[in-house]
Amino acid sequence: MPKTAHIIGAGISGLSAAVRLANAGFKIHVHEATQQAGGRCRSYFDAATNLTIDNGNHLLLSGNRHALAYARSIGTEAGLVGPQHAQFPFVDLTTGQRWQLDLGDGRLPLWIFDESRRVPDTGLRDYLALAPLIWAAAGKPVGDTIQCQGTLYQRLVQPLLLAALNVDPPEGSAGLAGAVVRETLLAGGKACRPLIARDGLSAVLVEPAITLLREKGAEVRFKHELRALAMSEGRVDELRFGDEVVPIAADDAVVMAVPPRPAAGLLPGLKTPSRFRAIVNGHFRFNPPRDLPPILGVVGGLVEWLFSFPQRLSITISNADRLVDMPREELAQALWRDVCKAAGIQGELPAWQIVRERRATFEATPEQNALRPGPTTAWKNLFLAGDWTDTGLPATIEGSVRSGDRAADLVLAMRRA
Ligand SMILES: Cc1cc2nc3c(=O)[nH]c(=O)nc-3n(C[C@H](O)[C@H](O)[C@H](O)COP(=O)(O)OP(=O)(O)OC[C@H]3O[C@@H](n4cnc5c(N)ncnc54)[C@H](O)[C@@H]3O)c2cc1C
Repeated sequence: MPKTAHIIGAGISGLSAAVRLANAGFKIHVHEATQQAGGRCRSYFDAATNLTIDNGNHLLLSGNRHALAYARSIGTEAGLVGPQHAQFPFVDLTTGQRWQLDLGDGRLPLWIFDESRRVPDTGLRDYLALAPLIWAAAGKPVGDTIQCQGTLYQRLVQPLLLAALNVDPPEGSAGLAGAVVRETLLAGGKACRPLIARDGLSAVLVEPAITLLREKGAEVRFKHELRALAMSEGRVDELRFGDEVVPIAADDAVVMAVPPRPAAGLLPGLKTPSRFRAIVNGHFRFNPPRDLPPILGVVGGLVEWLFSFPQRLSITISNADRLVDMPREELAQALWRDVCKAAGIQGELPAWQIVRERRATFEATPEQNALRPGPTTAWKNLFLAGDWTDTGLPATIEGSVRSGDRAADLVLAMRRA
């Protein structure tokens, strides 16, 4: 019997489902609306800086098991690089103070007992006060669960949760924040080594997946937007791409791995998150100083994280709706001032690019988190994937891959049933 699966959307969730099913012997058809794979995790050539840049700096951690397994499955795990140890240098732009959080190499968070490795001016009791977050209910906001003030909050909890949840931490879902803390800080330094796709997101996480899929006989079509689905007898039986109609045989499966808005349009009545938050990235063509770490946490300024790449300094700002309408030149100047202070450099604004992803992630509040659907639908051969489905994690690459793997496993189970 032929085993065929149609994957709608070539973002990370769709690609991870496609790769898993192709490896299980399925004939795969990937349908992507745009002319490029990767979705919100992609690279492109930028004429302003004359460099290939990513739409956003993406940070993974060594404890992102599914994301790493996905990279391994497409042969690019070595392309995720970072410092040897789980060390996070920080700078406070208001005081000029610099420090390094050193989470060690173990599986237990023993660093909190060591004054020289934890955040300066914090004590053990500050860390123990975070305990209610660990098993917090999904319906509670972080602000009702822990004290969102004090040195430990400003220097570690706020930057970590802001980056992970993409909302101001007190309004974020304590359940999602708890999952992040359990899988990172609580899992010890072994799970917290920072990793980035140094050669670009597309080169490391996207293009090799497309190559592998094609080698396995998959058909990958771009500019092929799904416009409607037709259902009968409890299953999807047609995919409609404008004038082209693709019949879906009784045993064929469909994984819909598109963002919430198109998903809701294609499946009326589907409950999805409806509010989103922006992420702003700034890229500056500048050779980083030799002593600049690959990733620097920045507090007390506009910039939140500074990444150094060959020929380029790049910054990230989360929960950035307040910046999406700011004039670009003005924003670039403000960011460059922060970059100079953080990196200890001087100079006129170099060639730059600003990328504002308005709907970078769903809003990770308790209310929006409650709107995330699971992977199954009312139609027995249709499964959902995407960072916005109910993965138990905020919108991250790790969540995307988990959702893709989960949808693929359900397709495999359908075949066995
Ligand atoms: C600026 C930025 C920074 C980020 N930083 C991090 C980070 O540091 N660490 C981290 O882990 N995560 C980060 N993320 C989140 C991460 O990028 C996402 O969680 C992940 O890429 C989402 O993948 P996805 O497959 O779920 O969805 P998407 O990437 O949105 O993929 C969906 C795909 O479906 C396609 N599509 C839509 N409609 C149709 C249709 N009708 N027919 C066919 N195709 C369709 C889209 O074109 C798209 O390619 C960041 C995101 C952004 C935007």
